[in-house]
Amino acid sequence: MANVALLYDEVYLKHDTGAHPERSVRVKHSYDHLRARPIYGSLTDLKPRPATDDEILLVHERRYFDYLRSIPSDEAGALDPDTMFGPGSLEAAILAAGAVTTAVDNIISGACDRAFCLVRPPGHHALPDRAMGFCIFNNVAIGAAYAARSRGLKRTAIIDFDVHHGNGTQDMFYGDEDVLYCSLHKWPFYPGTGSSDETGRGKGQGKTVNVPLPSGTGQAGYLDALADIVLPAVREHRPAIIFLSAGFDAHEADPIGGMDLNEDSFDELTGAIVETAREVCDGKIVSALEGGYNIEALGASIHAHITALSK
Ligand SMILES: [Zn+2]
Repeated sequence: MANVALLYDEVYLKHDTGAHPERSVRVKHSYDHLRARPIYGSLTDLKPRPATDDEILLVHERRYFDYLRSIPSDEAGALDPDTMFGPGSLEAAILAAGAVTTAVDNIISGACDRAFCLVRPPGHHALPDRAMGFCIFNNVAIGAAYAARSRGLKRTAIIDFDVHHGNGTQDMFYGDEDVLYCSLHKWPFYPGTGSSDETGRGKGQGKTVNVPLPSGTGQAGYLDALADIVLPAVREHRPAIIFLSAGFDAHEADPIGGMDLNEDSFDELTGAIVETAREVCDGKIVSALEGGYNIEALGASIHAHITALSK
């Protein structure tokens, strides 16, 4: 069995979004669900450290970070029409990004083989200079840039199976030859990007791989797209580590997604990725939570995902 680390902190509950679909009970319930199951005993509990300014600035612009820090600590409002920001939000966002960099550190040191970051706010819509779509900092992009540029791993790959296209992540690495970004997502759908002809620019040409899928796509459609398009691209790229933008909003019970996966599908998808990770990068995977808005389905899907990561 692989040694899988779980990174979670109650600070994530301090990003208070009220009755918004992206709310604190998502991670609280998922953590309690895991703790009540046998798998929990085999996981390595790791405490996330806050991301440093330098780590966040690998992909975000300083003026955006300074703007967030200038918001009075007792003020609550919205950064974009979908993205709430209140007194505990910045601390939670810095620790969400930090979970991913902490996971990278611990995989490099050999303390664990793989990691799951049970974090919020999510990240993959966040752009260099602004928040978007429930996301404040782009957690996975920060982790991938940190691994590639600060920790000398050079080549990394990101597989994003959230139901939405990770426009922020794509934007951050669109011209980068070292970071492969692959996304499976419903299309047409929010945020509107992610057509198959968006393939990268300059040196990054061919290092963005988008697989738009029609509404209602189920397990077979996802597994075929993964096996036929995404995993071959990962094998060709030969990353030193694989990151997952693990959204579970393609679950059939999700109120937002409109796709037809279930928890077994996430087990299968994860299993196929683990197999490829073993071939190309000694099984090293850092997975971080993105979306997933049916609370029960989210807990069950994360359990299935972590169980598959553990094999
Ligand atoms: Zn999503």
